[in-house]
Amino acid sequence: MFGKDRFYKGLWNHKAAFLFRKVGHRRDTGPKLKLLALEGLKECHGCGLIQKVPHLKPGQVAECTRCGEQLDRERLTSPIMAPLAFCITSIALYLALLVSPLMTIDIYGRENTVSLLSGPKELINQGFSLISILVLSASVLMPAIVLTLMMLILYGMWHSHKAPHWIRHVFAWYERLRPWSMIEVYVIGLIVAYSKLVDLAVVILQPGAFLLGGLMVSMAAMDSAFNSKSFWKRFPVPQEDQILCKEDGDSSENVTSDALLLQSDNMVSCTCCHTVFLAEKTVLPEDDMGNCMRCGEILRRRKYKSIEASLCFLVAAFIFYIPANMLPIMTYVRVGQGQPNTILSGVKELWESGLYSLALLVLFASITIPVAKIGALAIMLYCETRKKAWHLNGLTKLYRFVCFIGRWSMIDVFMISILVAIVRFSFLAHVTADPGVVFFALVVVLTIFAADLYDPRGLWDAAGYNGALMKSRRKADNSHPYTKRKDMESESA
Ligand SMILES: [Zn+2]
Ligand SMILES: [Zn+2]
Repeated sequence: MFGKDRFYKGLWNHKAAFLFRKVGHRRDTGPKLKLLALEGLKECHGCGLIQKVPHLKPGQVAECTRCGEQLDRERLTSPIMAPLAFCITSIALYLALLVSPLMTIDIYGRENTVSLLSGPKELINQGFSLISILVLSASVLMPAIVLTLMMLILYGMWHSHKAPHWIRHVFAWYERLRPWSMIEVYVIGLIVAYSKLVDLAVVILQPGAFLLGGLMVSMAAMDSAFNSKSFWKRFPVPQEDQILCKEDGDSSENVTSDALLLQSDNMVSCTCCHTVFLAEKTVLPEDDMGNCMRCGEILRRRKYKSIEASLCFLVAAFIFYIPANMLPIMTYVRVGQGQPNTILSGVKELWESGLYSLALLVLFASITIPVAKIGALAIMLYCETRKKAWHLNGLTKLYRFVCFIGRWSMIDVFMISILVAIVRFSFLAHVTADPGVVFFALVVVLTIFAADLYDPRGLWDAAGYNGALMKSRRKADNSHPYTKRKDMESESA
């Protein structure tokens, strides 16, 4: 038989070979179709409809005519100064937070104080390094990375004429990593941990807790003040590679009419900078169309193998969901007494101690959300593979909701990381993490990936509302609400 070491070496070699073959050399480097950027058009990321976006005044929002998804938005605030002010505030709060204590607990005169780093440290001591890495990344590393990337982006906007080319890739990384900075979820985790402790001991909130609240608000403000459109405006596609698509009634000669919109099978929209490109002939949904002329990301009409990838992560999440609920996630021992708690018994405990709103919050975040996410994605995958046109508008909105809500299930994981760090009084009271928390964290992370890899436009493609199929369907079936609505608009236009 193989020795253990040799087995791992072999496994690693095979894995490496697999990765390089599948990922490293997946892109075909053959000749690509010539692409022209269509300025003024946008593809809806919910339903895949390509449409003209009117010129917006500050504060105005453009929505998709078919599914209501937000297409474009013009901010009222200054494009660089407002996000810069919030970014600098966030950096100052973050640095202060790193050196400030969060909370102090006092049990019969014995005190213990925790900071942001105490939770991950104690989780490693208890043998939960994976959870420790997850908590450390989401609460300490990712906020730092995201704030650094935002500073680079704002620098690129300020000096767009001499900014290096890699600054455009920084934006793609900012969009990818932003959801993993979970300060706001950590704040709720801290509130739940605090409410669990107040009836046990004297709990004093330290300056760090308020800094954390401030950081949450200023990062949210930074996001809402930042407009990706004004970033990409500073990096235009060369004039000879673009067609200007303006609104009807515009007197420019380079104007293209609605006829162009009918060629949507020849169009590909960049997922990063949202520029729409026109090719000479039909583009297959998952074809690699080369790098985007504006941002340098890979161009594909639809996400690569979205059904397969999303299904894999969903099945894995479903399998781990069972032990996540059956196994205890933590043990809380008080004066030698206490038993392991599962997620459900934790909720029951909160309810019995009169903290009804918190009990409902944890129930919603830890039990309802994962089930709803797995169920919703499963329905979408079923409808897409069976080509069912079943509540497409509702499903598209549900997908947006699933993406938004996913991270909030981390509340329980953060709460446990805070409790294990603060309640450490040996016999008197102590909290230990249990294996259930590993499975639970896996469910959260896997469902986030499953939602991210899924492409809701596939639902509309499968039902025949996009591209060539849509044209034939419009002829055959004029009674359907989506086609009707479209026709009414084209009549009024
Ligand atoms: Zn839409
Ligand atoms: Zn792009």
